[in-house]
Amino acid sequence: MQYANIVKRTGENRRMFKNRFVRKALVVLALAAIMVVPFASIQGQTAEIPVLILPVDNANFLPGAFFDFRVEVHTIAELPEDFAVTVNGEPAAAFFGAEAEEETFEFGGRVTRFDNSGTPAADFAIASLALQYYNTAFGVAEVTADGENLTAVVAGETVVLEATDDPLVFTAVGGAADGQAVTFGLNEDGVVTGFQVAGQDFGKMDRQPTPAASVIWRQLQAPAPGEYVVEVTAGGTTRTATWTVREPVAGTARNVILFVADGMTVGMLTAARAARGMTQGLPDNPLYIDSMPEVGIASTSSIDSLMADSANTASSLNTGHIGSVNATGSYSDNTPSSLDDPRTETLASILQRTRDYAIGVVTTADYSDATPASVWAHGRNRGDGNRAAYVVQSLESGIDVLMGGGARRLLPQSAEGSRRSDDRDMFAEFEAAGYTVVTTATELGEAMGADAMPTQLLGIFHPGDLNVWLDRNVYTENVGDFTDQPGLVDMTTAALDVLGQNPNGFYLMVEAASVDKQIHPLDQERALSDLIEFDQSIAAAAAWVAENAPDTLIVVTADHGHGYDVYGTVNLEVFNAGETDEERRVGIRVYAAAGYPDYPDADGDGQPEWADATIAFAGAVNNGPTHTENYQVSEVPRVPAVQDDAGIYIDNPDDDANGIFFAGNLGPGDSTGVHTLQDVPVYAMGPGAEAVSGHYHQRELFFVMAAALGLDPSAEDGMVLSATDLSTAGIAGTGSLVIAAFGLVAGLAIGRISRRK
Ligand SMILES: [Zn+2]
Repeated sequence: MQYANIVKRTGENRRMFKNRFVRKALVVLALAAIMVVPFASIQGQTAEIPVLILPVDNANFLPGAFFDFRVEVHTIAELPEDFAVTVNGEPAAAFFGAEAEEETFEFGGRVTRFDNSGTPAADFAIASLALQYYNTAFGVAEVTADGENLTAVVAGETVVLEATDDPLVFTAVGGAADGQAVTFGLNEDGVVTGFQVAGQDFGKMDRQPTPAASVIWRQLQAPAPGEYVVEVTAGGTTRTATWTVREPVAGTARNVILFVADGMTVGMLTAARAARGMTQGLPDNPLYIDSMPEVGIASTSSIDSLMADSANTASSLNTGHIGSVNATGSYSDNTPSSLDDPRTETLASILQRTRDYAIGVVTTADYSDATPASVWAHGRNRGDGNRAAYVVQSLESGIDVLMGGGARRLLPQSAEGSRRSDDRDMFAEFEAAGYTVVTTATELGEAMGADAMPTQLLGIFHPGDLNVWLDRNVYTENVGDFTDQPGLVDMTTAALDVLGQNPNGFYLMVEAASVDKQIHPLDQERALSDLIEFDQSIAAAAAWVAENAPDTLIVVTADHGHGYDVYGTVNLEVFNAGETDEERRVGIRVYAAAGYPDYPDADGDGQPEWADATIAFAGAVNNGPTHTENYQVSEVPRVPAVQDDAGIYIDNPDDDANGIFFAGNLGPGDSTGVHTLQDVPVYAMGPGAEAVSGHYHQRELFFVMAAALGLDPSAEDGMVLSATDLSTAGIAGTGSLVIAAFGLVAGLAIGRISRRK
């Protein structure tokens, strides 16, 4: 059935579009508009065969780090006769001493969104083009993405489409099309041209999938420090990418703790500090972060977009490679599988294989979420389709400590609420592999107090994300059955106690996930309380380090930002007495009139009692859906906007009912605020901390951590300097302080070496 014919037929035929089955298909079309699919910049290159080189131009490596190397040649089904890949002029197979695997595949009109110099496609208007197409043909529908899955409301009916491995193929769930495959077509400009349900056309598929031929080398090791020019010739096209392998740096840290507050910005830190009281311009109770000696600034953009997500950003921190939005530990390719993309090696993996380090991940999110998973996981899409796989990868990677939420990803599909599509019981598999498994704060306390402390620990305390500090401690009716969840401080110190038993050293990443997850729905109090809990976790870790392992580098940063700031205060008595927006706004006070907020901290726990203020922050996020704002803590987690019958997000009448009106400045299908562009702060203390000073892309922090550890993946023991190098250097040193310093380094290094293996 041709779409073009359908729309030209009579009104009776037009009514076909009103039946549920067709509506579902139409929803899919609209949904496709917002999908994040790598798109191509092959416009303007029609005479040339498109070539994609992964890792991309400007990739940086440590010598000896593992990586996969893929070259894709698009629009042809077989590699051309002149196909050649060289590295610094030498055939790549000879250079690496390994033959590539050849692979051919098709991709559904999908084209890559960036070229090898990292230049975004000139026109990335897929969403608006597809919506335009949809609206012209069928009228308006609104769509949202939940991870990889897509949800829409059309004429009041909610439709869910489950993602599959192919980003252009979905499975319809429920309704007339239940269980059927829904496939999209895109043309070479990325315009949605049609779709099929169960193989039947519901649109014109005027573009066939694009054939591609590729070669991939897996598990190569980065060569010696230097510059490497990769040159690919295919069908007369020549493309190059330059890679830099950096000189390893000698450092004296033994352990690294990376703290990531998801979405944290300077604006939020300033507000959290001010909420704890200020007198005559100075804070009554500064944050622990404020005492950290070294500060830097990091940019967060991905290779395919200005706007970052947690996957590409946390992956930059953990691998030193800047990837695509949604991708973790890999460069996004165009093959059907989102789990076979060329991998980059994580800091955790290098430390495990060269130094037998213990590795830990602590988060307040579902632990398979993008930020925590970036410590070990490799995949192109952070959504549901890959998350169950990331749980399996965490077991295979031998991460020693995993704590957070996410039971739904570990339970077999037969279990209620499971998000697995197989029968694996990952709890049982972890237990069989020797992990101590705990699911409540009480069990965690018991495990830590046992005669033999665990060496491998899995703590999963919620089916999804953990509840936030404010709900766990104040609005406890919001936690439901999960009344015994540990906080981030307890999880952090437990992780340190377990990891600290490894004599070689450890790497721990701690994430405060709900700083981001609560500022998305514009909930300043829940976000700031979790930020304060994050700060208290850093203080606890610093105290642990001072007592147990002074040779530990602590780095604190965010993966990306949010546009939150405070612009004054609100006199709540005046505000709440107002009956119109204008009357309420009289309560908003700026400049000298702002004075200070009066959030009390009667119990002295460092957490303001938000509900007891009479003068509150006038705080706002610079983007959001249409909503109302009353500047007061919400007794339930906020849902600022809800969908109307046409699927458009409008103000939620149950949220901040007495608030002032804000018109949405996002798409009508966006339900919450989104990440913003601003650079994020970096704080550090301990050996190697001074290297965080300055401005850089956040991938630099991978190299900062590696340098602090003196990490050289090309050396047998992962060390930059051998004990001999160090003692020679010590003798050559001039002042006694220098000699003492080198002596200390040598002592640590020798100790480390002799403890290994
Ligand atoms: Zn976010």
